[in-house]
Amino acid sequence: MNIVILGAPGAGKGTQAKRIAEHYGIPHISTGDIFRKQISERTPLGVLAQSYIDRGNLVPDDVTLEVVRNRLAEPDCKEGYILDGFPRNVFQAEALGGITALDAVIDIHVPVSRLMARLTGRRVCPGCGESYHVDTLEGKNTCAKCGENLYRRADDNEATVAERLSVYASQTEPLIGFYNSLGLLKTIDGDKDKESVFAKIRSVLDGLYDNH
Ligand SMILES: [Zn+2]
Repeated sequence: MNIVILGAPGAGKGTQAKRIAEHYGIPHISTGDIFRKQISERTPLGVLAQSYIDRGNLVPDDVTLEVVRNRLAEPDCKEGYILDGFPRNVFQAEALGGITALDAVIDIHVPVSRLMARLTGRRVCPGCGESYHVDTLEGKNTCAKCGENLYRRADDNEATVAERLSVYASQTEPLIGFYNSLGLLKTIDGDKDKESVFAKIRSVLDGLYDNH
């Protein structure tokens, strides 16, 4: 079960990717998480990635592709994986097609107007990575899972969110057309609660699995 998950910032992509990984027993591969870990451990790759980020640039395609290639070669990916945060553009998608065969691309679709409210109200747990929305916290500011104090990511302010959504639209949306043309695209209505979205994803993936 080789899956890519797409979705704009705030669409709930990371949350759903974790649920899919747990449910199907496949690794959740988040390129963002890999880079954050490498940067915090100051590995050579982390230092290289940080140098691009410090200059306000994205990590170049060839660097990210190498990271993904190495990760997909690890033994836990034999039965499948869910890839989150990659590919980000058609160039990367074509390169990915040269190193692995995908079974499905899940696109979690949420209208742009809803994404702004979701993102600016998001609070994240530094301990376990769980995310919450201020509307559901009832004034609390601690993680229900591990008790850590929640924080607002620096890039979840309004100006940066608007910029991220615009970058997403211009860079990543062409991917939707690309994967649709390959017959891999599964569009999921993401403007629902987490449970309903996950149930829909499961029915789509179970349907694919039955057809194998
Ligand atoms: Zn937590």
